[in-house]
Parts: sequence; structure tokens; C-alpha cells
Amino acid sequence: MRRIQLANGTTVEVECLSCALVKGVVEPDGGVIYESDYFHAHQDVAYPIRGLVILASKRHVKSLDELTEEEKIDYIQVLSKIREAQRKVLGIEYVYYFYNEDTTHHFHTWMVPRYEWMYDFGRSVESVRPVLLHARNEMNDDENIEQVKKSIAALTVELNR
Ligand SMILES: [Zn+2]
Repeated sequence: MRRIQLANGTTVEVECLSCALVKGVVEPDGGVIYESDYFHAHQDVAYPIRGLVILASKRHVKSLDELTEEEKIDYIQVLSKIREAQRKVLGIEYVYYFYNEDTTHHFHTWMVPRYEWMYDFGRSVESVRPVLLHARNEMNDDENIEQVKKSIAALTVELNR
């Protein structure tokens, strides 16, 4: 078991945070944005950036090549559906995508919107980690969290119409 501190300050003991999230053992702040047969989308409010979405597989696998053919098709469809919603309801022009296989959790893809203010942290991918840390440490005020929660609600409505 692993002890994990959540954004809201509570600590949970889980084998895998992704499993806990997709099974509903741990409720993400803001709730689940979208669920398909094989994938589960939520925002990690520990990183309060409008429109940031984490798309996790429901199955406990680490790598893209461990997905079944059906899961792969579902993955790309859900990913593009979320991307479309980010553009339509939040006006997000650019998104950075990444996933790492050496995670302590399981297969999940970060969809990080690119905003103007992020250029202060670098021109491209080198800015992603500093941007996430800045968001976590400096953007945790009530007003921003409120904005983030509104964006989660807007995405949830759009994706579940
Ligand atoms: Zn897992």
C-alpha cells in the first residue's frame, strides 16, 4: 500500500491511485468529467489549470502497447472528444499531451492546455513541469479554484450531452 496526500489535504492508502480513481474509491475534486467503456477522465485539482484533463485507462496497465485493440480505439476517440470539448467550451487553442510508463500509478495521459501566461516558463515542452509546479503552489486561491471548477462543469456537460 502507498500513502498518497490528495489536493484537499486528506491522505489515502491505495495500491494504485489510478485504480482508486477509476473505481470511485477516491473521488477527484470536481468529479468525473467523462467515462467510456475503457477510460475515465477527470481533472487533478492539485494542478488548478482550467481545462487540464487526465485520461486514465480503467484497466491496470502501464503502457500503450498493453491496451487491447478495442481499448486503443476507445482511447483515441475519447482523447479527441475531450480535445474537441476543450476547444468548443473553453476556447483552448493548444494542448500538450504526455504520459509516462514509469508511473507509480497506471496508464494515464495528461492533457495540459497551453495558455499565454505559460510563456513566462519557457517556449515549449520544457515549461510544462515548472508550469505545473507554479499552478500547484501559486494558483491555489479560491478564485482560481472556482474558475477551474466551472471549467470542469462545462466540460462535463459538453462531454455528456
Ligand atoms: Zn491501477
